[in-house]
Amino acid sequence: MTRNKKQNWLDVSVLIKTGMVHWPNDPAVDIRPFKSTAKGDSCNVSTVSMGTHTGTHMDPPFHFIPTGKTLDQMPLEATIGPARVIEIKDRESIKVEELRRHRIQRGERILFKTVNSARCWKTDQFQKDFVHIPADTARFLAKQKVRTIGVDYLSIGGFKKDGAETHRALLGAGVWVIEGLNLSKVRPGRYQLICLPIKILAAHGAPARAVLKPL
Ligand SMILES: [Zn+2]
Repeated sequence: MTRNKKQNWLDVSVLIKTGMVHWPNDPAVDIRPFKSTAKGDSCNVSTVSMGTHTGTHMDPPFHFIPTGKTLDQMPLEATIGPARVIEIKDRESIKVEELRRHRIQRGERILFKTVNSARCWKTDQFQKDFVHIPADTARFLAKQKVRTIGVDYLSIGGFKKDGAETHRALLGAGVWVIEGLNLSKVRPGRYQLICLPIKILAAHGAPARAVLKPL
């Protein structure tokens, strides 16, 4: 058996657990046993209660655009294929200025690694000052016709700033959005991406598992 460590898949999803961080006023995550072998049942089964925009998850156009596609209508190519991890140095927001030199191309899948990855997931307290995509950057990315955008905290837009505008600019342009990635163990560069949201009927959001393999 040959093993090439460089070829390993990296898990860039966050762990789903009771009491974990979520967007303010979204439902809390609550996972509890429904059947338990410890209590004499023949198997273990749990009940999971959580919002659809918690942890690593995806937003389809329908999240903000009433006529937009729902997540169960997403083409698999949106989140399976080559992707680029771009490291953002700015600690406040992802600015057009910083993006220009990365020469983002039409149809690209872009994942932004910011200080959020190392900082925000350490705690189950919601971090209001996470690095976000301001509305003008969202319009820039929409104009570049990127296919998919991934961010490393719970929203592409900021907390009480540019939330709706940023979502409308990207989702309105048909860009598929992955939120809640943890890219702390990933270097900037080119990867093979697989990110599959669970298939809920007419979903406006759903948890996803996302993995990367260096190209
Ligand atoms: Zn979302």
